[in-house]
Parts: sequence; C-alpha cells; structure tokens
Amino acid sequence: MPRLAYVDGRYCRTAEAVVPMEDRAFLFADGVYEVVLALAGRPVDEEAHLDRLGRSLMALEIPWPTSRTVLRQIMRRLLHRARSRAATCYLQISRGAAARDHKFPRPTPRPSLAMMVRPFSLTGLLARQRTGVRVVLVDDERWKRCDVKSVSLLANVLAKEQAARADAFEAWMVDDAGMVTEGASSTAFLVDATGALVTRPLSAAILPSITRAVVLALARSHGIPVHERPFGLQDIAQAREAFLCSTTSAVTPVTAVGERTIADGRPGPVTRRLIAAHWAHMARETDTPIPAEWRPIPPDSSDTARTAHSAS
Ligand code: PLP
Repeated sequence: MPRLAYVDGRYCRTAEAVVPMEDRAFLFADGVYEVVLALAGRPVDEEAHLDRLGRSLMALEIPWPTSRTVLRQIMRRLLHRARSRAATCYLQISRGAAARDHKFPRPTPRPSLAMMVRPFSLTGLLARQRTGVRVVLVDDERWKRCDVKSVSLLANVLAKEQAARADAFEAWMVDDAGMVTEGASSTAFLVDATGALVTRPLSAAILPSITRAVVLALARSHGIPVHERPFGLQDIAQAREAFLCSTTSAVTPVTAVGERTIADGRPGPVTRRLIAAHWAHMARETDTPIPAEWRPIPPDSSDTARTAHSAS
C-alpha cells in the first residue's frame, strides 16, 4: 500500500498516520478541512478550495501552517502516488496541539496539517447520476456558523445516519422556519415550474460550496434562470426537478424527497444539462476526457450527408 497520508512533515500509510492526543481538532473539533476531487492526479477547482480554506482559517484565527504552494505540492505528491483515475484528497488543519484548555492556547502552537488521498469510484457516481437518488428531510441541528468548513460535523453525521437508516442517499436539513438549508454534505437545488433553478442564498446557514458556485455560473452561461432564495415543502411539492451537488457528488439528480416523488421520478432535462456542463468543466480543469455518456452528441453524419445531398 503506498504512503497516501501526510501528517506534519511525514508521509506515511493512512492506517499508520497518527496525530497527538492533545491535537485541538481531536479534543475540540478546533480545525478546518477541505475535500478536493482529482482526475488523473489533477485537482478540480483547486484554487477555489484553497481560497475557501483561507477564509475558514481566518474565521477561526488559525494561521496557515505552510504556504499555498507547499500545500499544492504535498497534494500533488499524494495524488501522484495514488495512481488512480479518480481520487479525493482530504486536507485538515487544526489549531495545533496544546494542554487541554478551551480558550486559544498561548503561546500560539504551530497549526497541524494532515492530508490523505483515497481512490474515488467514478462508476458509483456515474450510476447515481443515471438513476438519481432519494433524500430525506431532517431537522437542521447545527451551529450558527455553517459557512465555516470546520471539522465539527456531529450534527451532519447524525443527519446522514438518519438518511442511511431510511435507505436514502442524503439528508436535506430544514431550519426552524420550515425551509431547507442544505444537505448534510451537499447543496440542495430545485427546478421550479418555470424551469428556473432555486437554491438557498449564501449566508451563515450554509457552506459556500465550491460546486454550487460552479453550477450557478454554468447555469447562467447556459441561459438557465437562477433564483437564490430559501425553499420549503410547498416548493418541493411543485418542483419539476431536484438535484444536489458537491465535490464528490458533482451534480446528482434527486428523484424523491422523503415519500414524495419529484415529477415522473426520473432525472429531468435541466439537471441532465447541468450534469453534462459540469463534466465538461471538470474535464477542462483536469485535461481529461468527459465520460462517454455525458459527451456532447457530435453532429449526426447522416444529417451532414443529407444536407450535402439536398444542396447538390
Ligand atoms: N454543504 C455541506 C454541509 C457540505 O459538507 C458540503 C461538502 O462537503 C457541501 C455543501 C458541498 O461543498 P463542495 O461543493 O465545496 O464540496
């Protein structure tokens, strides 16, 4: 097994990676993280992930453990070792190790940096994109700074477990006003009766998802109207389509919410357009081919032949 993990200056096998017991992420979830998808060893949306990492660190007043350049190099080295068509890189930075005391330790410890790379199944993702998935609705029990990508994920863990027990892929979390905030590890979208995308606007209630930003930009460039507003049960009942998005789910159709089937229960045309556009984006980012089933259909050669014939 190659050494696919890195902890504070040392490359090691993931199962052998150790962090000190007094690490603040272990004791207090006092740390931040990122998950980056890579195709053929090349990260997707790398700079956007590093920008968000910087914002999370700033929000918690944790210094960068090293430069962005060094972070990129470590990530590339691990991805290269994975030799996988697709892989994810998990990167975590904690406030460091210090005697257990809630307030920030003084003097400031050196922040700790840990990374691990894992092969990622494109087959699984492509299968879910073909059929769609079911989500369930659960109460949003998280803290009030969900815009920070902190490792404090207990409420998300419990939400995801509720989904798993209901045989669903994801849990959409609902706030006190009955409006969906986001998925336990993804952003929630509807396509309304007019064909417009609906998703919750950015605020402290949701994570500023990298995939969400890419999908919104792609939708706008394809002339699909976008309404950034909260949506609730009524909107779900009237939706033409639904989907979720994240680094590891890309754009995945949602065909049922709880016991309610969305439209005819099959991935809809707007969602499918966005899946294709998003694959094209990932292919551009990584200089890799688009999976066959999401490639644009080449102009039909028999059409070309017909046109040529009628013109002669
Ligand atoms: N929302 C939450 C709560 C998440 O945990 C995630 C990803 O882990 C997302 C949204 C999607 O974010 P991204 O597109 O940056 O992966």
